[in-house]
Amino acid sequence: MGLKVYVDGELVDKKDAKISVFDHGLLYGDGVFEGIRIYHGKAFRLTAHVERLWRSAKAIMLEIPMSKQEMADAVESTMRANSMDNGYIRLVVTRGVGTLGLSPTKCSNPSVIIITDNISLYPQEMYDNGLELITAATVKNHPEGINPRIKSLNYLNSILAKIEALNAGVIEAIMLNSAGQVAECTGDNIFTVTDGVLRTPPLTAGILEGITRGVVLELAEEAGIPAREEEMTRYDLFNADECFLTGTAAEIVPVVTIDRRTIGDGKPGPVTLDLLKRFRELVKKEAGS
Ligand code: PMP
Repeated sequence: MGLKVYVDGELVDKKDAKISVFDHGLLYGDGVFEGIRIYHGKAFRLTAHVERLWRSAKAIMLEIPMSKQEMADAVESTMRANSMDNGYIRLVVTRGVGTLGLSPTKCSNPSVIIITDNISLYPQEMYDNGLELITAATVKNHPEGINPRIKSLNYLNSILAKIEALNAGVIEAIMLNSAGQVAECTGDNIFTVTDGVLRTPPLTAGILEGITRGVVLELAEEAGIPAREEEMTRYDLFNADECFLTGTAAEIVPVVTIDRRTIGDGKPGPVTLDLLKRFRELVKKEAGS
């Protein structure tokens, strides 16, 4: 049986999962999305993702044409239709079909799309040996322009930084905000550990409020690791004992060099590895297995 995709209330075959070329999601990146992990047949932190989707939609004045409960049910039924045990869910809400003009008021029906897929992780080698990062010259979107807390379909800001990373021969890049402070990576949040203190940039740095970031802050509290949401510069990154990234797809991935400076002793650090272990245990516990 082939992959089934949820499109506007129906589960259709992958080949029939299509939207109009007049959809403003395509024409203007006008829409919002979520990426969710399925662990052991259960969508991890589904409520938090649905809540964030609704907050993104509110910020762009997009009314999602169903309730949060209906959305959660639609995600579950798409997972079941594809017998997904471990994988990834992409939830997309577009502004819908409109005219070639910008006005969202000409778009009457937002489209809801739910795609399940096998997760493509960073290679295991990245977890064992850690990532190398560069800082991108592309500045993070200003929060008063497009607030990075909106998980919108327009990801060009991140894509430009990703291109810089790939051009430099690495797979992720750090993005700074317009004040020159560390914001986040193209698709992951960033943490450091210095003298036993865990730090991550605050939401006011202009970042996505990552679900995994939130889980890591919870885990740190449980583990008695002091944690702070604090502004940081590249200097703070270079001089950290440990650095790691968090994201739904990446989970927790160690960073060992930044702009050719070795972080700590150049190996995944003990706090990073401890948090990763705790994360994997939590995921198992929440999946009830
Ligand atoms: N920052 C950005 C820009 C992202 O796109 C993502 C999600 N891929 C994250 C951070 C991590 O967020 P989450 O933990 O909710 O996946």
